[in-house]
Amino acid sequence: MAEECKFTLVGKFIKIRPQLDKIRSKFAEKITVKGTCRIGPFNYHTVFFDFLKKEDFTHVWYRRSVEIEGQVMWYEKWSPNFKPDEDSPIVLVWVLLPELPYHCHSWNYVKHIVEPTGLPLTVDFATDHRTRPSTAKVRLEVDLTKPKVNSIFVGIEEDNSPLKGFYQRLEYENVPKYCRFCKILGHSIAECRRVEQKKAEERNKADKNNKVVEVAESSAQKQNDIITEQDQKEEL
Ligand SMILES: [Zn+2]
Repeated sequence: MAEECKFTLVGKFIKIRPQLDKIRSKFAEKITVKGTCRIGPFNYHTVFFDFLKKEDFTHVWYRRSVEIEGQVMWYEKWSPNFKPDEDSPIVLVWVLLPELPYHCHSWNYVKHIVEPTGLPLTVDFATDHRTRPSTAKVRLEVDLTKPKVNSIFVGIEEDNSPLKGFYQRLEYENVPKYCRFCKILGHSIAECRRVEQKKAEERNKADKNNKVVEVAESSAQKQNDIITEQDQKEEL
């Protein structure tokens, strides 16, 4: 089923989106597509883009956003888990591979090296043309809910020798923050106000429960005191 939507993007506006005909005309003005592109409304903030050709889909997805009628529309890759009030944690990032051996500066090597950290999409112009020997650069699709990989072991198999290799450092450029609690982009869970609020509510609840226990304990103590008093009187 998801196959039907493999070239579908979601366009999201923070405020109420412009009218659909405006989105269609501005999109056509700014983006040239080779095949067809159906643009349909989902709600007041969201529209769907359905591309016929993969190259159109990737061309638009790689742009990440476009300005329409003074508002920024952010692209999100559609998935079967799409929920209008949540942001997808799948984003595009550029990753640098500083001091990567120069003979590895090719799409074939680079894509294998970075595979454990996400889906490699393309290398930048300088890597492709081998004009920046100090660093290779690759664009990846990463899942922000997964831990960030900061170094990768690159093994090199040589004839008649044990596996040799090196650790390759990865540096990420402009990784967006994603809150796993709110499921939105823009802040991390460490700075989430809703998580703080929830913790405060839980603390209050625990305090109240402790007070109830204390009151129950002190009234039980009073009962014990009365009984002891009565016992003492009876003994007299
Ligand atoms: Zn949050």
